[in-house]
Amino acid sequence: MLAMGIFLCYNKYMSEIKSIWKDIISCLQAEISSAAYEIYFMDLEPIAIDGESLVVLCQKPSKKRVIENSYAHALRTAVLDTGALIKDVKIILPEDQDKYKREEPDADDVEPKFSYIIFNKSYTFENFVVGESNRIAASAALAVSENPGQIYNPLFIYGHPGLGKTHILHAIGNELLANNPQLKVLYTTAENFTNDYTLSIAGAKNKEIVRAFKQKYRELDVLMIDDVQFFEKTEKTQEELFHIFNDLYDIGKQIILSSDRPIRNLRLLDDRLSSRFAAGITVDIAAPDLETRIAILEKKALSFHYLLPPEVAYYLANKEQNNIRVLEGMLKTVGMYAMLKQLPITLALAKEALRESEAESVEHLSVQKIISRTCQYFGITEDEIFGKRRTKKLVEPRQFAMYLITCLIPTVPLSSIGQTFGRDHTTVINARDKIAQLRNEKDERTCTIIDDLIHHILES
Ligand code: ADP
Ligand code: MG
Repeated sequence: MLAMGIFLCYNKYMSEIKSIWKDIISCLQAEISSAAYEIYFMDLEPIAIDGESLVVLCQKPSKKRVIENSYAHALRTAVLDTGALIKDVKIILPEDQDKYKREEPDADDVEPKFSYIIFNKSYTFENFVVGESNRIAASAALAVSENPGQIYNPLFIYGHPGLGKTHILHAIGNELLANNPQLKVLYTTAENFTNDYTLSIAGAKNKEIVRAFKQKYRELDVLMIDDVQFFEKTEKTQEELFHIFNDLYDIGKQIILSSDRPIRNLRLLDDRLSSRFAAGITVDIAAPDLETRIAILEKKALSFHYLLPPEVAYYLANKEQNNIRVLEGMLKTVGMYAMLKQLPITLALAKEALRESEAESVEHLSVQKIISRTCQYFGITEDEIFGKRRTKKLVEPRQFAMYLITCLIPTVPLSSIGQTFGRDHTTVINARDKIAQLRNEKDERTCTIIDDLIHHILES
């Protein structure tokens, strides 16, 4: 019933839910007044995940009504801001609580046997746009998810970054569990697998840990390892993987691998491993054609609740041809920019939003530009904005710059903004929240500065 991988134990599940809600709340606080927060949101309690929604318990119908009528937009924006897999918040009253109760399992089950994974519910086959570039990969993946271990084994998918490999692996995971919730499906990345293994041998004094590691993988029905190019140079890990691979393969368990390059270009130390990888079917994903890129943009826009006119989809699709993650980043930049300016998405607005984001290293360039233009505007130097001094003359520009980066380039992680300024991400959150709060309260000086700054930043 729940959108969780089956290995997620109850305690982890609840702490995951709480942490998602905490993230949403901290974004929400930037959107609404603190009084509104205290009255309506403070005592809500997250209780479950249902599909892509976080289910939150509200004790009073009157409160629920106000939240739904007046704060739905702020809440949705906060959810999108967190960048979590959750896409919505569903407010329920105590009488509906039972529907979402998750049985607390027996003590025996509580111990997670696997590092858990929540398959991303939006990475499904339905949400995967199929075109010439990925048709074979998609159909092989679908076939595998319908008949694991029986037709294509192993399934090896390769393609450049940003073309949908991880999406396909999650889609297989979602589909497998939808067809058979009992199946033991593990998705991991080569990096995590390596860490896991390294940790287990680091604790080799404790035989139990090594045994648990081996056991964990050998019990699986389906093993998926993303980005196997990371195995290059990891001799010991490859050795272990080779054994796990053989054990699973011999008893007809499904193995699925992805890589950013074909097997022959993987510099694996162990030829035996390469030949195992190549033993089943190998499919590639190429760059999508224009039509597919437009269809992908339209699907994403729908899921982000953006109204994307066709001419804007066409414009964006022409700007980036090789990487869907980048394409999606541009769409988000445009969407957030429209939200920030409270205007509908139009071609002119999209061009304005992306004027600074032309090149590959969009983010770096733009972050730099926001900072330098902010410095110019306030008449301070970059050394000063990055420096340690905390006079009002410097703190304020710093906060405006951080705020604008979070709004104009939402794809930049808060921690990396922090790093740019030699500070940690909580400083960025505070700055962002403070300015957002002032704007929210329609503080005239703040609003004027922001308007001026945005113009100044976007001027070529
Ligand atoms: P990779 O793992 O190959 O680097 P991802 O699977 O992370 O790429 O894909 C990057 C983004 O592009 C994801 O948000 C994914 O949903 C999206 N994407 C890629 N291909 C498609 C497609 N054919 N249809 C819909 N979305 C796609
Ligand atoms: Mg990936």
